[in-house]
Amino acid sequence: MASITLNHLVKKYGDGFPAVNDVSLDIADGEFIILVGPSGCGKSTLLRMIVGLEDITSGDLLINGERVNDKAPRDRNLAMVFQNYALYPHLTVYENIAFPLRLNKGKYNDEQVRKLVTDAATTLELTDHLDRKPANLSGGQRQRVAMGRAIVRQADAFLFDEPLSNLDAKLRGQMRAEIAQMQRRLGTTSVYVTHDQTEAMTLGDRVAVLKKGILQQVASPRELYEQPINLFVAGFIGSPSMNFLPATLENGVLKTAVGDLRIPEEKAAKAAGKQVVLVGIRPEFFEDASLVEEHKLQHGSTFTAPITHTEWLGNEQYGYIHFDPTPEVRELLNNLARDMDADELRPQVVVTLDAASRIRGGRDAELWLDTRKVHLFDPETGENLT
Ligand code: ATP
Repeated sequence: MASITLNHLVKKYGDGFPAVNDVSLDIADGEFIILVGPSGCGKSTLLRMIVGLEDITSGDLLINGERVNDKAPRDRNLAMVFQNYALYPHLTVYENIAFPLRLNKGKYNDEQVRKLVTDAATTLELTDHLDRKPANLSGGQRQRVAMGRAIVRQADAFLFDEPLSNLDAKLRGQMRAEIAQMQRRLGTTSVYVTHDQTEAMTLGDRVAVLKKGILQQVASPRELYEQPINLFVAGFIGSPSMNFLPATLENGVLKTAVGDLRIPEEKAAKAAGKQVVLVGIRPEFFEDASLVEEHKLQHGSTFTAPITHTEWLGNEQYGYIHFDPTPEVRELLNNLARDMDADELRPQVVVTLDAASRIRGGRDAELWLDTRKVHLFDPETGENLT
């Protein structure tokens, strides 16, 4: 097993903007770390640098404390699991799993190969499918065969490059759980690349968020959700996404397009001296005021807002509030969308409502906001002030 250290890693293709820009990260032995970010943020390049498929422009890569920048991929003892499984269609499951061992001619005799393959097949619940060809397997089973290959190699670490992105949503959920359980069971250091924030949040011990080659924040899923360091991380993590509302702050009251919100003094103090702030509110910080227990009401702000429409999802509902942005607010939202790599940010607020809520579209509604949880961002730097 292995610890992996990235020390100021840079990757430049030609003269352009670096694809990976001064990334430093310590991955502990046995840790499951996720590299996440939108398309083009450099996460695959970073993974390929670790495994040795991409040269390192500058910086150091260490495995178990040893500098491996110039080591060939086969000498790094890392196993890569690809998106397209890279299975051989003419070989059985058994032979596909055994393949990396056969490449190492002389190192393993037939009996050792049989033991490693059958042990991996047991771990992966593939024992009944060892004679099948990949064409006769489901997507999930193929994925497990690809994992089996990584397991038999007894690699120091597993590197996953978006392994689930070819699967349908239901299977993706199942496989996500399987990968998580297997990693915990094997305890093998794993680096997993995805653009899917749900995978990032559910799989990793820690998540590293990348934007344009630059590491934004490395933290546990909970910390990323509760204490995003900047607007980008705040908008990327969470579904539905965090709402961002430009506001002015006057005597502890945020004046926003959807109403005035009184926030706790400690929070207001952190934004002292700012004329305009961006308020970050997750949809789930709102509730239908009529359903909030009396003792909770005092911890938040109650206000009236026009609900445009609602969506009922069975276990909860989403309510939408549209507002007319002033030209200044419109400009702020456009700048924000650019910063977040989003096509546009609509002048709307999404609120999560209890399934029992009777709030409906086309009417004003009394909403309650847990103001202890709101974030205030600096609109210039994007930094989370709270
Ligand atoms: P995706 O999820 O779309 O694969 P990513 O976050 O994995 O995105 P990379 O594939 O690592 O991003 O690419 C990072 C940047 O480097 C992109 O701007 C990409 O165009 C550029 N890039 C990647 N590979 C090459 C290459 N071989 N030559 C030139 N530029 C490249």
